Amino acid sequence: MIADPNEKPRNGIGVDDLPDGKPSARELLLAASVFHHSPQGIMITDAERRIRMVNAAFTQITGWREAEVLGRRDAMLSAGRDDPGLGKQMQSALDADGIWVGELWSRRRDGEVFPENRTVVAVHDEAGHLQHYFSMFTDISAEKFAAERIHRLAHFDATTELPNRVLLQDRLLHTINQAARVNGKLALLFLDLDGFKLINDTYGHSAGDEVLRLVGKRLLSRLRKADIVARIGGDEFAVVLSDVAQDSDVQITCDQLLQVITEPYELSGNLSSVTTSVGIAMFPDDGRDVPTLLKHADAAMYQAKEAGKNRYAFYEPEMNRRAEARLALSRKLRGALEKNQFSLCYQPQFDLSSGRLVGVEALLRWEDDDGEQVPPSLFIPVAEECGLIMALGAWVLNEACRQAQQWCEQGLAFGRLSVNVSGRQFQDEGLADTVAAALAASGLASDRLELEITESWVMEGPYRAENQMHRLNEMGVTLVIDDFGLANSSMAYLKRFPVQKLKIDNSFIRDIPADTDDSAIVSAIIAMGHSLGLRVLAEGVETAEQSAFLRATGCDEVQGYLFGRPVRHDEMNVLLLYSPTLSSS
Ligand code: C2E
Ligand code: MG
Ligand code: MG
Repeated sequence: MIADPNEKPRNGIGVDDLPDGKPSARELLLAASVFHHSPQGIMITDAERRIRMVNAAFTQITGWREAEVLGRRDAMLSAGRDDPGLGKQMQSALDADGIWVGELWSRRRDGEVFPENRTVVAVHDEAGHLQHYFSMFTDISAEKFAAERIHRLAHFDATTELPNRVLLQDRLLHTINQAARVNGKLALLFLDLDGFKLINDTYGHSAGDEVLRLVGKRLLSRLRKADIVARIGGDEFAVVLSDVAQDSDVQITCDQLLQVITEPYELSGNLSSVTTSVGIAMFPDDGRDVPTLLKHADAAMYQAKEAGKNRYAFYEPEMNRRAEARLALSRKLRGALEKNQFSLCYQPQFDLSSGRLVGVEALLRWEDDDGEQVPPSLFIPVAEECGLIMALGAWVLNEACRQAQQWCEQGLAFGRLSVNVSGRQFQDEGLADTVAAALAASGLASDRLELEITESWVMEGPYRAENQMHRLNEMGVTLVIDDFGLANSSMAYLKRFPVQKLKIDNSFIRDIPADTDDSAIVSAIIAMGHSLGLRVLAEGVETAEQSAFLRATGCDEVQGYLFGRPVRHDEMNVLLLYSPTLSSS
């Protein structure tokens, strides 16, 4: 049996001490060897839990040498981190069953805290008196930290260290249950950064990551402890405002969040800005479960983007209907190409000073299964979202080039053919090849083709777009920025892009010359375009007054109902036959 450690050789049970009738010397030597070589830490205490013996693994794990711990209570190892009731629990298990197994937090000699898995056995003598406690333990920090790491990776975003979508859903559910119990309200905010792609493209991905981290910090700085901030996608964040008294509280918070995001970001010495669009869904009014709230906050965010970005929108049932309509539209769109439901219309463009026809713009038309005309402003964004725009865009290019070449062969002068190209096509490396293929298949000369790309798309990914633009320019294709004036392009970009023409968005043309602001903007765009060596076209010209104003301000070209609506190719044939001019149209 175990004698006073002070008289014992280290690690050993003295064979000579053994009374008769006890285990044999061989058995004891074996036990001693197991004790000594066990990879588990072993500690034997007396009934008062004073340490009487420890093995080599004990020293290895805890850093304490035997001589330093003998006679001290085993509680010296405790890190003081366990549940307050755990000691009592252990004692009652030992009293009742003679064994306890569980996890404890201990402290090494150097102060480091570590988790251990411990088994404690109560050892009694033949008369049933408690003699010793025999404890065996393993350091489980490696497993525990690995498990924690895996948990972190699965639940937190590595860039911002915010909860990810999985954890958000978990916490949202918890918050919903709490709110439901007290008939409370909560708000789920869906945030999508505006113009984040521009930052990534301009300053690189590490600057983009820095912005995301700062956005996370700034959001947290404006929220209460109980609120949740999560990063749920590339540039998407979610915020849960718990315990909301009224909608106006949410508005106040949203105003603060918009404001704090808008403050400038310093990126490698440059000041840059980002804004955010926010969709809001309230519990319980807009949804009572996690998926519904997420879906509705997303639909509201989409609406905030549509309404011009850098703003928030509360969910309305109408938004859901719109989201569902978009989904239904995308289903119908899928079969439309095979069913030949698309066609092109052409609208003439005139030179203001000579009055000559200088071009025709191809505009896409879709007649759906029910024979309804669906406007491109409705189906083009859906086609972009579902990816169909690539095939559809290629069809438009092929069909328009084929038609234009036919006019050439018929000796009909149409000037240039202008084709709208979606920004998605511009972001794709294959656009120049698609254009080259359409030109080759039709036989149309490349200098007869002009591509229109909307300004907002150019600004979303200027560098990738620039690459495509150069290739197209080298092929001899003219490039035009469509709907100019809506996005805030920087002059610097405009200067470096290889574009030849600007089309002023028709929303600026509508109210000229009566609206002095719009008149000033239009004059400024024309002057700026000219100073960059670009031609300027005004679209959506409907009245003689507008036309006169544009002529007076030096606009180069015009297009609009005043001069000719978009018409089918056969009507265009007739028009071209008479080689129209501004005065004759
Ligand atoms: P956009 O390229 O800016 O085309 C001008 C739009 O204004 C056309 O609408 C045209 O019919 C309309 N418009 C022309 N003159 C007037 C006018 O005097 N007053 C008014 N109020 N409107 C006028 P549409 O055909 O409905 O096309 C809308 C948009 O859809 C186009 O705007 C373009 O962005 C897009 N789109 C059309 N065809 C295609 C296409 O083949 N590919 C792509 N990616 N987008 C297309
Ligand atoms: Mg256009
Ligand atoms: Mg336009």
